[in-house]
Amino acid sequence: MSSIDTTLQTLKLVSPEASCNTDLTKGPWLFDTGEAAYGPGSSQEDLAPIDTPRQGELPAVYREASDAELTARILAAKETLGERVVVLGHHYQRDEVVAFADFIGDSFQLANAAQTREQAEYIVFCGVHFMAETADVLSRSDQAVILPNLAAGCSMADMADESSVEECWEQLMDLYADQRTTDGKAAVIPVTYMNCSAALKAFVGKHGGIVCTSSNAATVLEWAFARGQRVLFFPDQHLGRNTAKAMGVPLEAMPMWNPRKALGGNDAQTLLDAQVILWHGFCSVHKRFTVAQIEKARAEHPGVRILAHPECPMPVVDAADEAGSTDYIQKAVAQAPAGSVFGIATEINMVNRLAAQHPEHTIFCLDPVICPCSTMYRIHPGYLAWVLEALVDGVVLNQITVPELVAADAKVALERMLAARP
Ligand code: SF4
Repeated sequence: MSSIDTTLQTLKLVSPEASCNTDLTKGPWLFDTGEAAYGPGSSQEDLAPIDTPRQGELPAVYREASDAELTARILAAKETLGERVVVLGHHYQRDEVVAFADFIGDSFQLANAAQTREQAEYIVFCGVHFMAETADVLSRSDQAVILPNLAAGCSMADMADESSVEECWEQLMDLYADQRTTDGKAAVIPVTYMNCSAALKAFVGKHGGIVCTSSNAATVLEWAFARGQRVLFFPDQHLGRNTAKAMGVPLEAMPMWNPRKALGGNDAQTLLDAQVILWHGFCSVHKRFTVAQIEKARAEHPGVRILAHPECPMPVVDAADEAGSTDYIQKAVAQAPAGSVFGIATEINMVNRLAAQHPEHTIFCLDPVICPCSTMYRIHPGYLAWVLEALVDGVVLNQITVPELVAADAKVALERMLAARP
């Protein structure tokens, strides 16, 4: 059997209004030599920035190997490297890759899990670019973090680049010049979702701000409101809006910042009255979920429990029974009485894995058009075999290194998040 995954061919059946393309049946290396792009499964509206890292060509021996050959090569390389390597697999990663992971989790759980392997000289992160950066920030200086395919980025993370955020900050500082500190509170506190570049984590670290995950966003917003009159939240508008709304912030106090427009497309008074300024970013996977899908699931499965990730649009989160992070969704499923029915609004690989792990329940993804995270999908067993065999030969490929000064500021923001934990 070829190593090219054909299990997602259902994409060929997409309806005309679907935004995913049909290239999932091809090997990701077919996309790794041309222009910067997000590759198989991506929304055709998602354009990768010019400076997106580009993966060089994967050697033919890995492109042409069968599944069985790749499995044997990966297992042999892991065996040879032993405790010197730790392989991390994100929840949204394909099964053929997760099968080789020493730890499976979300981005922050994985960055921390790597630290439990003291002998590990190499951390192979089967996830996307910002996750590998975070692992590098948190790892020891003698550990190398490796991303098997450099083209595995995150379209949401790329929606907030450093220069656009700096420009936004300057405009806000001018606008809030008279309110720099009122009642001991700063005019605005920057809060970034974990899904951003290390440079933006460093930006919030330098400006009195903090990082959040989808598990702790409410705690982090409370931390920020204790220190600031308002919050600038990036890059995911949906996580920011859903979390702040649940905390009682009215929608009219949450203007959106469009980086292509002066004052983000707002008038000055709106920004003066704002409590949370939401960056115009989103996840291409989670924005696909709709209220109509929930209504259909409820009609077809009476008693179904709808779980939505907070990266989904607000109407979807409002219509769901519960909203929570990947960790929350996993625990909700694990703790439910046998025979429960779940309709889940998150990435398909994770939903399928949950369904396989919990045959006692009925579990399905709310999106009928299978659309995995296109960027996670760039990690294929062929790339994993390539970087592991190179390590056996003493060659470190695709190392992700965050410059020291950036890492120091980013670490400040990450440590504030840890300290803010409930
Ligand atoms: S699921 Fe969305 S936010 Fe997560 S890595 Fe993929 S594109 Fe980025």
